[in-house]
Order: sequence, then structure tokens, then C-alpha cells
Amino acid sequence: MYRIRMHGRGGQGMKTASRILGTAFFLEGLEVQDAPRYGAERRGAPMFAYVRADHKTIIERGIIIQPDLVVVSDDSLIPMAVAGVLAGLGPDTPLLICSSRKASFYLERYDLKCQVIVFSLPFPQGSRPALSSCCAGAAAALLGLISANNLAQAVGRELSALPDNVITENQQAALTVYDQLQDHRGIVQPSPARVEIGKPQWLDLPLEAASISAPAIHAPATSLKMNTGVWRVLRPEIDHGQCISCGLCSTYCPDGAITLNPEGKPLIDYDHCKGCLICLAQCPAQAISAHPEQGTEPQEEES
Ligand code: SF4
Ligand code: SF4
Repeated sequence: MYRIRMHGRGGQGMKTASRILGTAFFLEGLEVQDAPRYGAERRGAPMFAYVRADHKTIIERGIIIQPDLVVVSDDSLIPMAVAGVLAGLGPDTPLLICSSRKASFYLERYDLKCQVIVFSLPFPQGSRPALSSCCAGAAAALLGLISANNLAQAVGRELSALPDNVITENQQAALTVYDQLQDHRGIVQPSPARVEIGKPQWLDLPLEAASISAPAIHAPATSLKMNTGVWRVLRPEIDHGQCISCGLCSTYCPDGAITLNPEGKPLIDYDHCKGCLICLAQCPAQAISAHPEQGTEPQEEES
């Protein structure tokens, strides 16, 4: 799995950068998670967004503690403990910084033990192409498995609400940074899944006969003393030759009027069957038919 953390300040577009990167991974056929995490709700406050991508189902959730790549759009965040840029960096984790300084500056100044790679913006700070597209392009280059075509498509999809010329400028900016970092292509190594799916801790219950597993349905309660069968207009009759002994009619009968004999064949208690025909509707074998009760058939009118 690839785990990427992208740090910036509110308003610099790191959320969009993570979405572009996530979409580019998706276009490469990987499963993706991307989400932003904000601290103080104000423009300029430190924030980060993270992306997970894998060829398998991702079951990890929450923020990324041990990243495989960290991207920083603003180098003033590096020494800021609250920004957490250096949290969880291993000796092989690349720290990708958007800066015009050299990597050696950061290695010496912050006594860093990780790999540091810098990239510069292909346009003046504050001009129109977004920082987010460049950060996504830089990360895509280091990851090595995202093609230029899919990177450009991802920028187009994520910025689709903007005018066409702005989208084109952003695509060009992302691809320029992507080309700038081709010497470092593929240096990010995916790390193994840290959450394993074990056998669930549940009990396997054996299947029981309907008469045991749903005893309440077989307790007609007060109706035993009340001959509700006289209410019946239509009489359900079971063709035992067609019956497959599934027991569904017995389970669904709302009056508990169907019991199963020891061979699993259903028997209707006509003293209590009210003729609702739910059993007929539920029978998967169409083994139950309905017949008018004697005396309830429509009478022919005398001429
Ligand atoms: S007709 Fe209704 S009451 Fe009678 S056996 Fe079928 S489901 Fe039960
Ligand atoms: S639902 Fe139909 S097939 Fe199943 S036991 Fe009842 S009559 Fe037989």
C-alpha cells in the first residue's frame, strides 16, 4: 500500500492535491482513499491531506502515522511541531518539499535523516496555475506508477468546474513538475498492510428446524381457545406430492396454524387457520392452493 501525507496551509490547495493524486491512482486501477484533516478553521493554518492507494481492498482508516511519502507545499511548516510534517518519517521516507532551496539546506538545518527532494514551481508564486496541481504532479513522479496521461486527466477531472484555459494551465504545470522529477521516479516504496483481517470472533450456530428456531410463531396463544377457522372464506390446501418440506409456510403463518410433522411435511390446523393465504403466497413450490369454503361460493342469481 502507498501512504502519502500532503502538508500545507489552509487555502494552499492540499486537499485538491490529494484528490488529484487519488484520482490519478484510481485511473491506474488502484483502490484509493483520500481525505483532508484540518486543524484551526482559518486560512493559513497548518493542515494536511492524506492518500492511501493499493491494488487490494483498503481496510486501514484514520490519519497516516507512518507515511511512505510526505509532501510539503510550504517549508515554514517543517519546524512547526503542531504541523506534524516530520512525524513518522523513516530513514527511507522521501520528504518532498516545494522550494527554491537545495535539499542540503533542509538536511543540515533540521538534522534530517530521511531523503529530501525539492522541486520548484514552474510559475511565479501567486500566479494562476494552482500549487495543488504541482504538488500532485511532483508526488506522481516519485511514485513512479502514475502515467503523465492519467496525471493530466486527474487534474482535468478535479478542476472541471474551472474554465478550460485554467484547467489547461494546471495540467501543463503538473506535467512540468512531473518531468522535473523524473530522476527520482519510483523512489517511493509501498509498505505492507498494517491491518490484517483475521477470522471473525463469532459462533457458528447450527441450522435448526423452523419449529425450534421460531417457536413464538408456533404459539397461537389465545387463539387455541378460539375457533378462528370459522372466519375463513378461502381454504388453503397443501399438495404434499409437490411440497418440498421447506417449512416456510409454517414460519410465515401469522396464526401458528401450520405445524411440521416429523418428516417435515406441513399440516394445517383448520380450527385456527383464518384463510389469510400468506402461506400460499410464500410457498416456493406452489404446493398450496386456495378453495372456497363450503357455503361461501358466490350464489347464482335466480332468473
Ligand atoms: S391461510 Fe393464513 S392462517 Fe391459514 S394456514 Fe395459511 S397462513 Fe396460516
Ligand atoms: S411452503 Fe410450500 S413447499 Fe414449503 S413446506 Fe409449506 S407447502 Fe411445503
